[in-house]
Amino acid sequence: TYVVTDACIRCKYMDCVEVCPVDCFYEGENMLVINPNECIDCGVCEPECPAEAILPDTENGLEKWLELNTTFSAQWPNI
Ligand code: SF4
Repeated sequence: TYVVTDACIRCKYMDCVEVCPVDCFYEGENMLVINPNECIDCGVCEPECPAEAILPDTENGLEKWLELNTTFSAQWPNI
């Protein structure tokens, strides 16, 4: 899965949301997150993010962000 990381905070360009084929982005007050259970790992959102905030969770050190994306996507509205 892909996850949204801290570079998204107070950015929210939304370009990623428009390209996601499965609409798995969720929006909070300060940032967006991806629902890891819905993401199909297509990767099209990654180059669309001007803040380079979207990364594959296979990268080192992203466990915390995977957890946050999982938690918040269950609480925030789908966009
Ligand atoms: Fe959506 Fe594909 Fe990005 Fe997953 S990798 S959030 S399915 S655009």
